[in-house]
Amino acid sequence: MTSEFSFTDLAGIGIGPFNLSLAALANDVPQLKTRFFDQKPAFSWHPGLAFDDSVMQTSYLKDMVTPVRPTSALSFLNYLVLRGRFYDFMAARFETVSRREFTDYMAWVAHQLEICEFGAQVREVDHDGQRFLLRMASGDVVQARGLSVGTGPVPNVPEGAPLGPNCFHGIEYLERGKEIAGKRVAVIGGGQTGAEIVLDLLTARDGPAQLTWLSRRSAFWQLQEGGLVDQIFTPAYHNVFLDLPGDHKKEVVADQKYSSDGLTPATADEIYRQLYRHRHLEGGDAVSLRPGRTVTRIDRRFGGFQLQAETPDGGCEGLNAEVVILATGFRPTVPGCLDPIRDRLTTEAGGALALDARYRVLWDGPEDTPIYGMNHGRQSHGIVDPQLSLTAWRSASILEDFTGRPLFDALRTGSDGLVDWAGGQMAEESVRIPA
Ligand SMILES: Cc1cc2nc3c(=O)[nH]c(=O)nc-3n(C[C@H](O)[C@H](O)[C@H](O)COP(=O)(O)OP(=O)(O)OC[C@H]3O[C@@H](n4cnc5c(N)ncnc54)[C@H](O)[C@@H]3O)c2cc1C
Repeated sequence: MTSEFSFTDLAGIGIGPFNLSLAALANDVPQLKTRFFDQKPAFSWHPGLAFDDSVMQTSYLKDMVTPVRPTSALSFLNYLVLRGRFYDFMAARFETVSRREFTDYMAWVAHQLEICEFGAQVREVDHDGQRFLLRMASGDVVQARGLSVGTGPVPNVPEGAPLGPNCFHGIEYLERGKEIAGKRVAVIGGGQTGAEIVLDLLTARDGPAQLTWLSRRSAFWQLQEGGLVDQIFTPAYHNVFLDLPGDHKKEVVADQKYSSDGLTPATADEIYRQLYRHRHLEGGDAVSLRPGRTVTRIDRRFGGFQLQAETPDGGCEGLNAEVVILATGFRPTVPGCLDPIRDRLTTEAGGALALDARYRVLWDGPEDTPIYGMNHGRQSHGIVDPQLSLTAWRSASILEDFTGRPLFDALRTGSDGLVDWAGGQMAEESVRIPA
């Protein structure tokens, strides 16, 4: 088999929602050659957590293109129209669209873009002083002037967790979940992933004999929602956040946590109703919800696992389980394919690629061969970065930066938002008092 050598302007590694949005918008940019690669055989979105009834935490209008190019043929609304279900969808008056339908929409987008290639693993990326060289698993080599790293975060697994068939990260749940019938199950993690797994276990026909849900959070907090909260998911606030002093950004991100990491209210309410049914109508005592517990150890014991958790009063609690599901979130990481240039990239303490305001990774390569980092900006660009709200807007900003051309009017016509973050929105100037 002979290997092929080809050139593109911008190469995307990974086709999750973030690079897919970049591809969808790049596809219409004249004189720009792009190629996007994903190792998976076809587009999918977290299939291990694709419950039939799980819903999006963000509006369907925050799709791959609409916020910056509503006339694109790749919008969610056009998907509905071409699928022949626009009126049926509207009449359903969904508050939020199901993840299943949004995944189908994204797969539809990917399918239409010839620049998106699946079954295409990028094995190694090097830089020859002028261009990136992407060595593909197929043996082909792709030369590119710019890179967009959209390989996604990796499961966050507590140190020393004895991973195996009965102790696994929640991202694999639907592939493993069948082994829980009649067992003592512990779910660790009080975010939306933990909640969806707990709800599935509570309603399963062959459910566990015992279910314990442990969370480090002081209570099972829901998403903070509403128009005023949503103001932090706008380009206007993003720009305000960028100007905050570095050490203050960390505090602000922590303060805003439950605007994006809380439980979807519908899921939380349904868990509560299931709990009520279990406790009061069925007289059950085999379900225990335990907030304020920080799991410190998971040891294999007697064919199962023994967990230790710190309690809010500083004590220690033990628990035995036969199945442990780690709904312990995700963390950013530099993908292995960047190993040949890893020493040249600046990273943050948490493992993310360090980004400048234009989403360029800080590195020692030439300015005209940028690397853009998708989903690496939670600390540098704010709580909005790992979710879909500004996806299309970020893609548009990257494309303008890369081409040096004003391609998207929406980047300049947006409102400053309805909250006066930095002063100056009132007709009468607000006075800044020196600290
Ligand atoms: C269950 C779940 C539900 C979520 N729901 C929402 C929501 O409703 N709203 C919202 O705003 N956010 C949501 N998020 C958060 C966020 O939108 C998703 O995590 C999103 O998938 C992140 O997209 P991504 O493009 O960074 O990476 P990913 O979706 O993780 O995609 C990365 C891709 O890179 C590929 N890849 C990796 N390495 C290589 C390589 N070397 N070569 C080729 N391909 C490679 C992988 O195969 C993968 O397809 C959710 C997250 C989860 C886990």
